[in-house]
Amino acid sequence: MKKQTIAINTPFVRRDVYGSLAVPVYSNVSFEFDDAQEMSDAFCNRIKAPDYARISNPTVTQFEQRVKALTNAAHVTAFNSGMAAVSTSLLAVAANGKNIVTSHHLFGNTLALISGTFLRLGVKPRLRDLTNLETLEAAIDEQTCCVYLEIVTNPQLEVADLKAIAEIAHRKNVPVIADSTVIPFTETNLKDLGVDVEVVSSTKYISGGGTSLGGLIIDYGTFPQINKRIKYDLLINLGVYMPPNTAYMQTLGLETLDVRYQRQAANALFLAKALTEIPEIKRVNYIGLPDNPFYALAQRQFGKTAGAMLTIDLESKEQCFKFLNRLKLIHRATNLFDNRTLAIHPASTIFGLFPERQLQIMDVRQTTIRLSVGLEAPEDLLDDIRQALK
Ligand SMILES: *Cc1c(COP(=O)(O)O)cnc(C)c1O
Repeated sequence: MKKQTIAINTPFVRRDVYGSLAVPVYSNVSFEFDDAQEMSDAFCNRIKAPDYARISNPTVTQFEQRVKALTNAAHVTAFNSGMAAVSTSLLAVAANGKNIVTSHHLFGNTLALISGTFLRLGVKPRLRDLTNLETLEAAIDEQTCCVYLEIVTNPQLEVADLKAIAEIAHRKNVPVIADSTVIPFTETNLKDLGVDVEVVSSTKYISGGGTSLGGLIIDYGTFPQINKRIKYDLLINLGVYMPPNTAYMQTLGLETLDVRYQRQAANALFLAKALTEIPEIKRVNYIGLPDNPFYALAQRQFGKTAGAMLTIDLESKEQCFKFLNRLKLIHRATNLFDNRTLAIHPASTIFGLFPERQLQIMDVRQTTIRLSVGLEAPEDLLDDIRQALK
């Protein structure tokens, strides 16, 4: 069956006692057992039965099952935020003395996690230009615990050549962990491109309208020790499991993901094309535009759509602030892939506490506005941008 069908028809792990058609929300903490042996079997993982909501919950299991059916992954685990998924995936491979090979072009909190938190624990960051495969290869050594990357970086919109990167990493028996938040997993087949573990902030496309924070680790099973670490150590001991109400909302989000995404990606392409015609806009960066340097690679890896994030560059930071202040329809807010279109000046907000020198290394520019394109009629969005530039 195709993903649109799977997204709404994955059978429940166990039929609900009342036959509920939508996934029931088990908002309880504890589960009762008929006898002591069954209880022991559940606690010792000899049978699959929920015992305590920090460790497992039927509503969350249902959500994980659907993601598993949509990705053909070996293991899927849901977390209470994207950052919980990111940090858990890294903790599953890292140890004192190891290093993480990655890039300066990372989501701000992930960069801080790797170059701050992990460094304090004795794990060294190796920040390299991942578009340069020779530099990448030279950075990997015996102590490298993973290559960590974002399939499309934000806000630079740099696309990773996954097949080439994975080939280099695998030659040295190093797993590739990829943050795939900016292109939904229903559009890609990252396993075929060599990704071992996918991490996703399900807060974004999946939650549908910014309803809830959540994260996913989608593990293709190529490095079996990773799932063992996650399921029997980190998930339980860190207390980072997804809450049941989140799983309910995000299961509903999954059901409409494809229609929402197709519309958002089409809107983004419409806007990107139209914005290149506006003289006040110095640069439009969208990987779905044929003259974008990453266009061919993006089409090859992600198919016909190119996501719903784009950036525009204006003359100066002052022009960016004026533009933001004049917007009437588009919202001044962070988050990505909400149903509404959102605009932000990344250099003064998400990256506002990084020194200017660091921003230059990260290629986060004072002249850049990031747009996350929503479900509105695209003509209305274009009208709002036009009037705000006047
Ligand atoms: C938002 C985001 C995260 C973090 O997710 P949260 O759900 O906010 O914790 C990680 N990576 C990328 C690429 C993101 O956009």
